[in-house]
Amino acid sequence: MKISTLSTLAIFIIGLPQFLFAQNFLPEERALILRGDTTQGMRIIQSTVAAENEILTRPSSNINTREPLLPLLLKRMYIAMTDTTNPGIGIAAPQVGINRKVIWVKRYDKADAPFEYYINPLINWSSNLMRKGSEGCLSIPDARGDVLRHYAIAIQYQDSLGRSHEEIIEGFTAVIFQHEIDHLKGILFPQRMREQAQTKYETVATTTELFFRELPLRP
Ligand SMILES: [Zn+2]
Repeated sequence: MKISTLSTLAIFIIGLPQFLFAQNFLPEERALILRGDTTQGMRIIQSTVAAENEILTRPSSNINTREPLLPLLLKRMYIAMTDTTNPGIGIAAPQVGINRKVIWVKRYDKADAPFEYYINPLINWSSNLMRKGSEGCLSIPDARGDVLRHYAIAIQYQDSLGRSHEEIIEGFTAVIFQHEIDHLKGILFPQRMREQAQTKYETVATTTELFFRELPLRP
């Protein structure tokens, strides 16, 4: 093989999206997903337990979309998140002890606000404009705080067939995506609050009136 061909190949491989190298679950991950009653949600781990906080603050890796246990993980995460005793509007796999890039988000920007899952999501772009809002987390008991989040973001993710998608998300739904994708980086919202306390922000003039076009209702 000629050097030029080799270097072209090297550039090609470096340029490939990381999820193409995604692995299947490890044996211990498989055991955790299959533990207990598999028709029930997995337990949501808590930052107040040292060993669990270690999992919550660890970066997650990509998952192969063809992994056979992925649908069961998604289902058990969904059940955990929609538990009526402590319901959430999003969840990330590290919160059930699996350090993989899988999230659920309630799409408040869509009619009837459905829950949707995203595999190997990442943020490709974010606006300089930020919004401030109160956040809590299923993994941090009794804590709430004001966090600044990018007003708009562009995300990239895979669906269950491995197809790649890109989408621009705004407003409160973008907040949920940023909170959940932060979980995949091992970042919990109090860390964002600490970072932001050290950063200067400029208030945007409120003389500009902002509007949202109402979403069409389904018949
Ligand atoms: Zn959270």
